[in-house]
Amino acid sequence: MKYYILFGPPGAGKGTQASAMVEKFNLCHLSTGELLRSEIAAGTQLGLQAKALIEAGSLVPDEVVEGMIESKFKSVQGVDGFLLDGFPRTIAQAEALDSMLDKNGEKVTAVVSIMIPDEMIMERIRHRASIEGRADDAKEEVVANRIKTYHDKTEPLVDFYKATDRYHEIDGVGTIDEVRSRIFETMEKF
Ligand code: ADP
Repeated sequence: MKYYILFGPPGAGKGTQASAMVEKFNLCHLSTGELLRSEIAAGTQLGLQAKALIEAGSLVPDEVVEGMIESKFKSVQGVDGFLLDGFPRTIAQAEALDSMLDKNGEKVTAVVSIMIPDEMIMERIRHRASIEGRADDAKEEVVANRIKTYHDKTEPLVDFYKATDRYHEIDGVGTIDEVRSRIFETMEKF
């Protein structure tokens, strides 16, 4: 099985690019943000816990997302691999992922990291807010907190994965098609 990580700051275009990637390489798209939003919509206990944290632009506890991911690894069939989108988001999550995979003799295949400058993050999220209506996109201070959380907690993963030689950076500035071709070119190497 292939285990790709789609990495990048909020608004980098992970969700947009993920659909083309899963189709081309027969992967299961696992977006922790989407999984959490469906828990909230379904009004589950987990959704209730996650809602306030997400709406403040903070992260939900590591164990919560790790549990969601592990149960998908066990239940999803008929694919050539997984595309992890929004996970891991902390060093602890990355270590948990390594041990989940290690138990089955597997490892992370590659990290595809879409990079855009901070100014563009705000701009893209403002645009998305007007289309998708996500609660965590609506308030500037929440978006600012997500950017801060990204720099503090998630960006350290760049060095974590660079040390494994599986880190591939893609320039996320350009049209959707341009960015998609850059991603495919990289993924075709695996
Ligand atoms: P974006 O990439 O645009 O920030 P996501 O849809 O990936 O948005 O995530 C939305 C929110 O869900 C995050 O701001 C965070 O609160 C929560 N979340 C998603 N993935 C994780 C994760 N791996 N660990 C902790 N919290 C997460």
